[in-house]
Amino acid sequence: MNPLHYKKTILTSAALTVMVACATSPLGRNQLMLQSDGDMNKMGEQSFEEMKQKTPIEKDAAINAYVRCVALPITRALTADQKSKVGVKDWEIVVFKDPTANAFALPGGKIGVHTGIIPVAKTDAQLAAVLGHEVGHVIARHGNERVSQSMLAQGGLVVADFLSGKASPEKKQMIMAAVGAGAQYGYLLPYGRTQESEADLIGLDLMSRAGFDPRQSVELWKNMGASGGSAPPEFMSTHPSGETRMRDLNSHMAENLPKYEAAKKSGLNPHCTPPAVK
Ligand SMILES: [Zn+2]
Repeated sequence: MNPLHYKKTILTSAALTVMVACATSPLGRNQLMLQSDGDMNKMGEQSFEEMKQKTPIEKDAAINAYVRCVALPITRALTADQKSKVGVKDWEIVVFKDPTANAFALPGGKIGVHTGIIPVAKTDAQLAAVLGHEVGHVIARHGNERVSQSMLAQGGLVVADFLSGKASPEKKQMIMAAVGAGAQYGYLLPYGRTQESEADLIGLDLMSRAGFDPRQSVELWKNMGASGGSAPPEFMSTHPSGETRMRDLNSHMAENLPKYEAAKKSGLNPHCTPPAVK
């Protein structure tokens, strides 16, 4: 191969790598993406299956009906573009018997809600704020960023081994944590500050368009601040501080209130009554 051609080949493959690895978040930030969306969805699905086997599932009909009553309008509020980014038609929603105030969403269309979040997010709209935030992480592909960053930090995490079931238990837990399913394994990886803010704003938009009062998102953070708690939930595990988040949410209220009013006018008016949780 002549040197010039060789150089050209290198340049072309470098350019290709950059094209594959860089994406733009819904709020316009450059993102490092080393995984395909298909592999991320498979990782999310496998992690969720694992959690369903290892964590007790809440079967109480009233609790499940309540969580679905809140979660379904959120998943239906996704735009066509957001739906195509997520790449699944139907979301799987599971309530886990776990007293920690937490919830999460995984690539592949999985939503997990701990029973412990229900008394903290006191109203349906507050739970909608939580779930909108979690689904926001999936829409913005934050799990892909986190797996990609872990791969760089670890000199290559064994994603293929994970998918084929050959990864060591430790590597398996690390992948699950990066995908977003690590809380129960002591591997809760916080998202970054910018990712949290992005998820907050995507969640605010989703809940408003689903017909939940966006002002309740601020009330949720007040409750979160008051509840304290020993195991911080995913959305409290990192900065920005509650104060900053409330200020940011409030600064976006003017553009989201009209979406809420429009949703109500169009008949989207979810009323879900919180059940008693033991
Ligand atoms: Zn979050």
